[in-house]
Amino acid sequence: MKYLDALIIGAGFSGLYQLHCLRDKLKLNTLVLEEGGDLGGTWYWNRYPGARCDSESFTYGFTFSKKIFKTWTWKERYPKQKVILNYLKYFSKEYNLKKNIVFKQKVISTQIFCKRKLMENKNEQ
Ligand SMILES: Cc1cc2nc3c(=O)[nH]c(=O)nc-3n(C[C@H](O)[C@H](O)[C@H](O)COP(=O)(O)OP(=O)(O)OC[C@H]3O[C@@H](n4cnc5c(N)ncnc54)[C@H](O)[C@@H]3O)c2cc1C
Repeated sequence: MKYLDALIIGAGFSGLYQLHCLRDKLKLNTLVLEEGGDLGGTWYWNRYPGARCDSESFTYGFTFSKKIFKTWTWKERYPKQKVILNYLKYFSKEYNLKKNIVFKQKVISTQIFCKRKLMENKNEQ
């Protein structure tokens, strides 16, 4: 059994940002489990023709990182699915996030053992 400080379920916008915060800022031993074969969450799963954002691109990206903000250029006002997926891959690469993500792992249950201060989860591949 592997002991962690924090377990994050899902590698979409939220999970990736949480991983950065918990691992890089709080220095916690953190792991992300993701059911899909790669990161991106909504933007990994929804690939149908015409899928795109309806928020303006500059409001949809991460603003906490000057690095990402300055180096990534949104070319469209309402970016397509593939562009948003590439943005998340770029973010992940810049912050070296993938090394703490395990893909094709669906969490099917979690259990908290209060007395032992432990949480145990079950996954399926
Ligand atoms: C076509 C489309 C357009 C959108 N446009 C906008 C927009 O313009 N503005 C806006 O604000 N929002 C928009 N959204 C909403 C979008 O879902 C969110 O903006 C955002 O991407 C959600 O990120 P998230 O990380 O919270 O969740 P998700 O992206 O849903 O990621 C959750 C991840 O958790 C994984 N997961 C879930 N359960 C488990 C489990 N048991 N075990 C393992 N992994 C699990 C899933 O596989 C998924 O990858 C849009 C959505 C779609 C589909």
